Amino acid sequence: MEQQGQLRITGVVLYRKDLSPTLRTLYLWCREKGAFWVFSPGSGKGKIGRAYTEPLVWGSFHLYKSTRGVYLKAMDLREDFWELRKHPLMIREALQWGGLLKKSLLPEHPEDALLRVFYWSLVLLRDRAPLLPLRWRFLWKWLSLWGQAPDLWRCESCGKPLEASGYLHSRRAGFYCASCIAPPEEFQEAESVLQELRRAVMLSRSDFQNADFTLEPWQWEQRIAFLEEILRA
Ligand SMILES: [Zn+2]
Repeated sequence: MEQQGQLRITGVVLYRKDLSPTLRTLYLWCREKGAFWVFSPGSGKGKIGRAYTEPLVWGSFHLYKSTRGVYLKAMDLREDFWELRKHPLMIREALQWGGLLKKSLLPEHPEDALLRVFYWSLVLLRDRAPLLPLRWRFLWKWLSLWGQAPDLWRCESCGKPLEASGYLHSRRAGFYCASCIAPPEEFQEAESVLQELRRAVMLSRSDFQNADFTLEPWQWEQRIAFLEEILRA
């Protein structure tokens, strides 16, 4: 965002804040530019529909940069994900993802691959993909892009391939081979957990959409909590 003037750019509204009834600021996350604040004067007064400046709305933004800041002049809507807003569980999930991204993204640092992961995860959410496996898939893919995802194929400690089985560490995110950790009693369970976690990140979108996962909700929640911890660290 160095030069002044007009700019047209594709992205999503991550967050909005109303400074007055007629002045709204938006935190946009856009291709090639990363995340940044813009003023959106007059949104809600007809010029730019108020609904267009809600979080999770994707579009092509027409911006103007002056010495005083970046202004949203107009917008072409691409996808508003309005369907999500009809279901409290789904919109809460999507807004939580957005909130976590807002906290984690470095301002004005491009994250185009992660932007795509976010978009396609919202599509899966809207299309009723299984919720907990989807949350795991989204967070794991995010951490994987940042080089911080727990390895699902190699031992966290020695790096040897895990083959079909790996041992869960009760207090850490990763998996360990039999020589690095004393095998837990419930070995079968560890194996099925690893297989399901792998499936959730490996399946294509259409296969994921219709997949049946066998893990219990608490098992997903436990693994998801590890990922959230890594993001907060
Ligand atoms: Zn090992």
